Amino acid sequence: MQPHLGCLLPVQVQQRHPVTELSVYYERLRAHFGHQNWWPGDSPWEIAVGAILVQNTNWENASRAIQALKEKEWLSPEYIVQADAESLAPVIRTSGYFNQKAKKLKALAAWWQAYAMRIRAGEQDLRFWRQSLLAVKGIGPETSDSILLYAFDQLIFVVDAYTRRLLERHQLTTDTSYEAMQAFFERKLPADLDLYQDFHAQIVMTGKHFCRPKPQCEACPLRDLLPRKSSL
Ligand code: SF4
Repeated sequence: MQPHLGCLLPVQVQQRHPVTELSVYYERLRAHFGHQNWWPGDSPWEIAVGAILVQNTNWENASRAIQALKEKEWLSPEYIVQADAESLAPVIRTSGYFNQKAKKLKALAAWWQAYAMRIRAGEQDLRFWRQSLLAVKGIGPETSDSILLYAFDQLIFVVDAYTRRLLERHQLTTDTSYEAMQAFFERKLPADLDLYQDFHAQIVMTGKHFCRPKPQCEACPLRDLLPRKSSL
């Protein structure tokens, strides 16, 4: 029996089938980095706080701010919602933009008190909760979706700058608006929460270690998935 033509084609040609393609990407990254067990945090609230504090900074700086809140025993929505932003800001100084982030944390805490129990109770649907989070001061799509995916285990794919860079360099989609990239993953991946959570983490690891502004393709586990005529 003749082998199927696809078996003879190089990976760059086989990758035209998007489901296979994304599975290959994920398997390569997971084999390289291992499962990431994201997101770090001792509770859903801590995860949500981390999603605010990590905006425009790295995780180390955000983590130090969380630790400072813990040491003061201020890391609860009940405390933060009644605290004044001026007291909160210096405690989270290490995360940068601390005056703005103090206000964002207070807005998030108010949202949390109104809605967190209702999400867990299965009220409404995911799009409803996403819209309600996007209406909170200082919460954009990446932050809202991180909170929904990691703090509430909702099936929504998180997109960030690393995701955009990878998709662009591998020419996987032409529309790199947030919603189009998110829809691309959600259309092509099976509805698997652990896959959504870990795939995003794998992309972040790739962006940090290999797919930097100056890409390190030679050492990258995705090297042979690059489009054939890529100029990278
Ligand atoms: S570093 Fe190169 S091979 Fe790796 S993801 Fe980026 S563009 Fe692809």
